Amino acid sequence: MKNVILYLMLGLGILSCSKVPITGRRQNNLMKETNLIEMSKKQYADFLAKSKVLPDNDPRAQRVLRVGNRIKDATEKFLTSKGYAKRLNGFEWEFKTVDEDIVNAWCMPGGKVCVYTAILKLCKTDDELAVVMGHEIAHAIARHGNERMSNQMLVNGVGSVLAPQDPNQVSIFQQVFMGSATLGMLKYGRNHESEADKLGLVFLKIAGYKPEAAIGFWEKMASTGGQKPPEIFSTHPSDERRIKDIKEFLTEIDTYIN
Ligand SMILES: [Zn+2]
Repeated sequence: MKNVILYLMLGLGILSCSKVPITGRRQNNLMKETNLIEMSKKQYADFLAKSKVLPDNDPRAQRVLRVGNRIKDATEKFLTSKGYAKRLNGFEWEFKTVDEDIVNAWCMPGGKVCVYTAILKLCKTDDELAVVMGHEIAHAIARHGNERMSNQMLVNGVGSVLAPQDPNQVSIFQQVFMGSATLGMLKYGRNHESEADKLGLVFLKIAGYKPEAAIGFWEKMASTGGQKPPEIFSTHPSDERRIKDIKEFLTEIDTYIN
């Protein structure tokens, strides 16, 4: 039934169909990405207002800003050169560090990034931090949030499709992005994770960081689990297969860059 509705809306031109950079996967999104970005801006501002955001002159915040901006610049150049400049429409990048004991980071649609101090501490090098930030930025570039929204809209009924600022739509946004305890910690499926890994590795490599750092980083995450696994695990399914997939992708990464 879901598919029937999807194809019907595709035919009516309500849905937009586009291709994800690097993987070439076709995706159908119910929401206009620019509408989703507008919603994210408000939610991000609300989040910052009630969080312990480090000032930009704090060395930890500066580190996040430095790595984030370097990946952003390289990614924008790369996407533009590959004909994907449209993916950046409406993006207003922000890189904030929140002082909280959460081993996680996220990026909302439109380039609103949050890195928590607990994961920052675990990133011993900027290469490792680039692995985390590249992956999160990739979720936004690949519009995974929109796909999650679209699925939830189909579950809730398609009425809100035609009215993007409808309160129903805001409520779906909150279900998708704030369903768990912390804003932005949406749970992605394995396909989205794997795609974000690939895009993220390309983005950090073209920014001059070492993509090989991803292997050690995810192995470290796996071994620091203990009694309470890092949050980045509960929101980012991770296992031996992920590390194996990353190793495989690294052997062909240059074919996506050149
Ligand atoms: Zn992820």
